[in-house]
Amino acid sequence: MTTIAVLPGDGIGPEVVEAALPILDAVGVGWAVEFGEIGWGCWRREGEPIPSATWDLIERADATLMGAITSKPPREAEAELPADLQGTGRRYASPVIALRRRLGLYANIRPITDLYGADFDFVVIRENTEGLYAGYDYRGLDDDLWNLVGDHPGAVESGRDDTAVALRLQTRSGLDRIFRCAFDRAAAGGFTRVTLADKPNVLRASGELARERFDAIAAEHPEVEAHTANVDAVAMQMVRSPESFGVIVAENMFGDILSDLGAGVMGGLGLASSANVGGRGSLFEPVHGSAPDIAGRGVANPFATILTVGQMLAELGAPDESARVRAAVREAVQHGAVVTPDLGGTASTADAAAEVVRRLG
Ligand code: ATP
Ligand code: MG
Repeated sequence: MTTIAVLPGDGIGPEVVEAALPILDAVGVGWAVEFGEIGWGCWRREGEPIPSATWDLIERADATLMGAITSKPPREAEAELPADLQGTGRRYASPVIALRRRLGLYANIRPITDLYGADFDFVVIRENTEGLYAGYDYRGLDDDLWNLVGDHPGAVESGRDDTAVALRLQTRSGLDRIFRCAFDRAAAGGFTRVTLADKPNVLRASGELARERFDAIAAEHPEVEAHTANVDAVAMQMVRSPESFGVIVAENMFGDILSDLGAGVMGGLGLASSANVGGRGSLFEPVHGSAPDIAGRGVANPFATILTVGQMLAELGAPDESARVRAAVREAVQHGAVVTPDLGGTASTADAAAEVVRRLG
C-alpha cells in the first residue's frame, strides 16, 4: 500500500494540510497517511527541527507531503524554549536544506496552470543544488578571489573588504540530470517543447556548458522541441503569452525567480503547488510559507495544498485522479462563491476545501 508521510509543520501548515487531506479519500486512492513533526514548533518542544522519528517516517514512506515550516522564527520566542535549550546558544535553523540533502532533491517542479479561464499549462523546473545558490558566496576576498576580480574598477575603488563575489556553479553531471528531468517530464506529460532559460550571452563559459549539455540531452528526445532563450525574455513572455511554453528549465536562481513569477501568473501564493524530486525520495509542498500573519484564523487558502496533493497523485501514478483534483479546484476558483479572502471571498479554509471535495463527489 502507498504510504504518505504528512508533516503539517508551522503556522498555516497544519490548517491547510488538515483541509487538503480529505481530497485523497474523495478521489478514492485509499492511501495510508502517517503524521510526523517538523519545523520551529517541533524544535521548541524537542530541540530538533526534524526528530529521528520523522526521518524514519520519511524514509519508510513513498512520498512526503509538507505543510509549511517557519524559516525565520520570532526572536522573543527564545524565552519559551525548553529549559535544557536555554542559554546553550543552539539556534533554530530551517531543516529545508537537510531535507534536500538527505533526499537528494535536485529538482523543484512547479506546474503553472490557468485556473481562471485563460489557456496556459506549463511547468517550471528549477535546479536545486548548484547555480548561483550553490553557496560559494564571499565577502572580504582572499588572494585567489582577489586575483580573479581585483582589476574590476569597482573592486579597485572599494578594496578587498568591501568587495563580494558569488560564483555560479554549473557541472556536467548536475546539468545532465536536471535537463534529463525536464525532457523526460515533457515527454511523459505530453509537452511539445522544453525551453532552457539562461543568459549565455553574458555568462559565457557557464552558459556555454549549459547549452552544450542541454543540446546533448535534447538529442535523447527528438520528439520534443528544444529551445534556449534569455531568462529576461522568458520572464516577459511568461506574462504576455504564457500559453507559448511547455517545460521551462533553469538553474537555481533563475529558476527561483521564474517559478515565483509563475505563481504570480497563476494568481498568487494561495494557488501555487510544488514537488521536489530527486534520487532518494520526493517532497510535495505548497509554495507559500507558514504565513504567521494569518495563522490560527482559519482563513488560509487551502487550494495550493490541494493542488499539491493533486501533483503528488500524478507523480505516484494516479494521473486521472490528479486531473480531477485540478478540474475541481478550477471550478471552485472560477465559480468564486466559496473562496478564501486572498481570492476575494469570505470562506474559511475548511469551507473552501469542502467546496472542492463536494465538486469531486
Ligand atoms: P515563512 O517564513 O514561513 O516563509 P512568510 O512570512 O514568508 O513565512 P509566506 O507564507 O511565504 O510567509 O507568504 C507571504 C504572505 O502571503 C503571507 O504573509 C500571507 O499574508 C500570504 N499567504 C501565503 N500563503 C497564503 C495562503 N495559503 N492563503 C492566504 N494567504 C497566504
Ligand atoms: Mg516565505
